[in-house]
Amino acid sequence: MKLYEQTAANLSMLLQKKEVSSVEVVQSFLDRIELVEPYVKSFITHTPAMALDMANAVDNRRVGGEKLHPLAGVPIAVKDNISTQGLRTTCASRVLENYIPPYDATVVETIRRLGMPLLGKTNMDEFAMGSSTENSAFYPTRNPWDLERVPGGSSGGSAVAVSTGMAPLALGSDTGGSIRQPASLCGLTGLRPTYGRVSRYGLIAFASSLDQIGPLSLTAQDSAMLMNVISGYDSLDSTSLSEAVHDYTVHPEEDVKKLRVGVIKQNVSESFDPQITAAVMKSVALLKDNGADVDDVSLPLTDYGLGAYYLIAPSEASSNLGRYDGVRYGYNSGGDNIEAMFSATRGRGFGPEVKRRIMIGTYALSAGYYDAYYLQAMKVRTLIRRDYETAFKRFDILVGATTPTPAFKIGEKTEDPLQMYLSDICNITDALAGVPSLSVPCGISSDGLPLGMQLAAPPFREGLLLKVAGFLEQNRDYLPLRPRVKLPEGGEV
Ligand code: GLN
Repeated sequence: MKLYEQTAANLSMLLQKKEVSSVEVVQSFLDRIELVEPYVKSFITHTPAMALDMANAVDNRRVGGEKLHPLAGVPIAVKDNISTQGLRTTCASRVLENYIPPYDATVVETIRRLGMPLLGKTNMDEFAMGSSTENSAFYPTRNPWDLERVPGGSSGGSAVAVSTGMAPLALGSDTGGSIRQPASLCGLTGLRPTYGRVSRYGLIAFASSLDQIGPLSLTAQDSAMLMNVISGYDSLDSTSLSEAVHDYTVHPEEDVKKLRVGVIKQNVSESFDPQITAAVMKSVALLKDNGADVDDVSLPLTDYGLGAYYLIAPSEASSNLGRYDGVRYGYNSGGDNIEAMFSATRGRGFGPEVKRRIMIGTYALSAGYYDAYYLQAMKVRTLIRRDYETAFKRFDILVGATTPTPAFKIGEKTEDPLQMYLSDICNITDALAGVPSLSVPCGISSDGLPLGMQLAAPPFREGLLLKVAGFLEQNRDYLPLRPRVKLPEGGEV
């Protein structure tokens, strides 16, 4: 049995039965990383020694008879915008290239406490701004289903690590699609939780009113297991919510009878790749055949979502990124006077997309323009939220495509920011409304690329999303679930 091919749930079972040790599990993933990573570049920082140390500590505790958490000994990869004490956290930016946080994010503190060995910090678009992981200041990550294509972004490194078996689980962050879109392009389940469900403490801020941490995994059950430990109130995050945490465990015998499913017209658009729409509608038919009530629904404000998001997110970013001035921490370029230093530090420290967002945001917030841009966008956001509230009176879940096309080619959209922004068109309104949203695989294109379906639910109903995703997973009729990575020199791994 190849341990690196197992789901987190299987690994957890094998570890609890003492059939394998955590050191053996971790070693299997480290070997896989050595083999595959050079071709895909998922990680910014590798932590093999730390992972083995953590695994060893867990094994000793287990041998000592201690009752451990089911996830103890199951390794994980963490996106590089989530702070890790004593371990470089770069946000894929030159500005933070050598930044070592003095504290752990709450989610990292949790995984350390449970004894989940950390395999490394994953590549991403700089400051999570992007949809392809091409905006990393270091190198792009490649899609293992086709190395000429992007894995999506901004959590592209986390997605690729899981889909290639270099990690059984990963944490990503989603501001306007950054978990769901790469999950979809890499054939994974990825969940953006309700805003406030998972602590943001220690997540390096991009757009604070939208940022959420969430899981990426091969199966719904694996995401559920991770959600069970990262959800809940945290006094260190003032936007964290105290609503009780459900048990998200997915039970295979669950059904979808009487589930009210709304198919969002705007997210099965005729302008999308027809293969995606067909795959989504096939999954919808499956739900219907199993007793769900299905109907169409229009979210009329969706057309304004992209415009509102690309004012709100850059506005918040322009404020959040003001701290990178070379004074307190991070890159400092030096300079003859303070102004020269600020400008050289920021000029050299940030990449072009980050600068573009800072300029848009600063403009939108400036005196005389605030009302016309930022305030207007916030009003649109309120109307979008109302669209959802209305729809959720009729439906339990809202579904559509996660992305308008399968993975696109590396370099295809880098010259045209608007085209890049449009790749998140289906992901943004859920984020603006603050509702939980999940991407689940729903097919494979004729070119052998994964296709994803997005499901949204009312606040705090991520358990329902995971249950429906689990149902779809049980009933899927296509293969493969994981890519064979075709090597440029021939052969595959
Ligand atoms: N692609 C979107 C953006 O560039 C969303 C990114 C994210 O969710 N972090 O802003």
